[in-house]
Amino acid sequence: MKTPDKNGKFGPYGGAFVPETLVPVLRELEACYHEATKDESFTRRFGDLLRNYVGRPTPLYYAERLSDEIGHRTYLKREDLCHTGAHKINNSLGQTMLAVRMGKKRIIAETGAGQHGVATATAAARFGLECDIYMGEVDMERQSLNVKRMELLGAKVIPVHTGQKTLKEAVSAAIRDWVANSSSTHYVLGSALGPHPFPMIVRDFQSCIGRECLRQIRKAEGRLPDIIIACVGGGSNSIGIFHPFLKFPEVRLIGVEAGGRGDSLGDHAARFSGGRLGVLQGTKTYVLQDGFGQIASTHSVSAGLDYAAVGPEHSYLRDTRRVQYIKVSDTEAIEAFGRLSDTEGILPALESAHAVAGLVKISPSLPPKSLVVLNLSGRGDKDVQQVIDFLNKKKGMNNE
Ligand SMILES: *Cc1c(COP(=O)(O)O)cnc(C)c1O
Repeated sequence: MKTPDKNGKFGPYGGAFVPETLVPVLRELEACYHEATKDESFTRRFGDLLRNYVGRPTPLYYAERLSDEIGHRTYLKREDLCHTGAHKINNSLGQTMLAVRMGKKRIIAETGAGQHGVATATAAARFGLECDIYMGEVDMERQSLNVKRMELLGAKVIPVHTGQKTLKEAVSAAIRDWVANSSSTHYVLGSALGPHPFPMIVRDFQSCIGRECLRQIRKAEGRLPDIIIACVGGGSNSIGIFHPFLKFPEVRLIGVEAGGRGDSLGDHAARFSGGRLGVLQGTKTYVLQDGFGQIASTHSVSAGLDYAAVGPEHSYLRDTRRVQYIKVSDTEAIEAFGRLSDTEGILPALESAHAVAGLVKISPSLPPKSLVVLNLSGRGDKDVQQVIDFLNKKKGMNNE
């Protein structure tokens, strides 16, 4: 069955729960998307930018020392080598090209870790569009380097002071702006989230990861992998690598969520452990919420995974058991960050370190010498200070 259906549903999930003024705007976006992807001049130009500007195809790298340590043949899909340092640019470029096609002169976006903001500011600069980025005050502090990068790229970063002052509030602020300015402005949503058609568009723009990976692993190993593993924030890098493999039931797909500092509500962002069906920011999906349906606060050492909802397609894939979801803690992710740095000379983004930690965690339970592909969604330069602070705090606690 092709998903989403014509109403934007993935089984019972997804849809478009939005103010009435946005309904025609979302329809315009969907129509533009379908036309563009059938227009050879659009796909050729997008393909050219992915090759020569982003640096695709990204390598599929055999991680020899990590493989020896964990006892499984492990390849890393190197999204960390994309221009701007993560997979986000694939989607930002694609959506910015749609904005140009719709005649919009201004781009807005929300950002948590700052990666999506940087990617979108980059795409906006490339196409000469005005660009405003909403970012929670707390995230601006913990990702101050990315704030500077966006400003150097010519974007305006607008601090969001409400609520928990992180990603959820930034999304709300961006949606409000969009409702007020939709005739001139396109909202570049950063993950496989939000109202239809965003989860579909973001998935399709990110599926280049999985399509390349399918070709590359066949060439390298002459067969499909046993396992593909990726971290799940909103769910875009994971659905991007999973999607072309959904039709091969022999390939086990594993998503890793942020287990944070504990299992209590407010201490993690593991929607599939503590979440229930709800509606957040335009889509029906698993949401972390309290007994009254109030959106719960979340915690993760990784800003990019720190969000109360998960993309609706993941909820569907979880219910149908096509994808299995696990979680790892802040501490496990930081350990995995060190491990990949030590064994392979690659500093992973803290988000991607969750996938590494997930692999380390399940590796004793896998058949020996399993063939694994891990989606290394981004590079860790932005997280160096964060890792140092975490380790110092831990040391301090141990000395007390
Ligand atoms: C934003 C981000 C993520 C989380 O977002 P998804 O939509 O779940 O992919 C993961 N890794 C990196 C490097 C990111 O920047």
